[in-house]
Amino acid sequence: LKVIRTLEEMLSQPPHQGGFVPTMGAFHEGHLSLMRQAKAECSHVTVSLYVNPLQFGPNEDLARYPRQEELDFRMAADAGVDVMFAPRSDEWALASKTSVSVRGLTDVWEGAFRPGHFDGVATIVAKLFNLVRPRMAYFGLKDFQQCAVIRQMVADLDFPLQLRFCDTIRETDGLALSSRNRYLSPDDRAVAAKLFAELLRLAEAFRNLPVTEWSSELEKSIATLSELGFMVDYLAAVDKETLQIQQDSSKPTQIIVAARLGSTRLIDNLAV
Ligand code: AMP
Repeated sequence: LKVIRTLEEMLSQPPHQGGFVPTMGAFHEGHLSLMRQAKAECSHVTVSLYVNPLQFGPNEDLARYPRQEELDFRMAADAGVDVMFAPRSDEWALASKTSVSVRGLTDVWEGAFRPGHFDGVATIVAKLFNLVRPRMAYFGLKDFQQCAVIRQMVADLDFPLQLRFCDTIRETDGLALSSRNRYLSPDDRAVAAKLFAELLRLAEAFRNLPVTEWSSELEKSIATLSELGFMVDYLAAVDKETLQIQQDSSKPTQIIVAARLGSTRLIDNLAV
């Protein structure tokens, strides 16, 4: 595994046309599954490890975001990664006067609760695409709205690469793996899996109900989750492409949720 620390060195790499997995580190099986899929499809794989300050709001967890670089490097090497781009300086992100903003998809749901978040994501991912110049880039469906934003950005800015969106890796009780799960207290961890259980219940219910009755099911789930101690930011059934509230049950639908448990914010989603 070759570790690259500077933009200059990254830019001086020969063009590999390989696979690319952008990450913020603190690796778990979700990250590793993206790396393994990249390695299965591309002979050369680059992973970026950068806790992107542009995508954190002023009151979010940038300072306490988990960092475990040496362990991450070992895990990536075991997954077959060739190059790890882990820039030391924040200057390249913070000095950017250019911001990439994907209209329409970024001011709803996660974007409404985390203003500026997706601009920060899109800007850094665009910069990384230009530095790494991959042929394929891999993202996790765990961050469903992020996938929609990146797909639109790649189409609009004509990035010459193919996107792969990979399934969410879960704990045995259904909780989606996340670097932030380690913040959960043991009591909250025991409750956390109920979030996915509620998504499963809704997906099943929606298959047997007209779309006009979906909102009352969503209300029921919000009540259930609130009783369990969740603070639900949003829970919605949206059109897979537009992310607007689904009005037509014959179209592909995704149930998306964000909820806080203690000081930890969990997001998840499930196809109907
Ligand atoms: P992050 O380090 O949280 O920015 O995540 C890096 C990449 O890993 C993103 O494309 C995420 O969507 C993806 N990812 C995070 N958690 C999971 C998971 N549980 N399953 C699959 N992919 C994931």
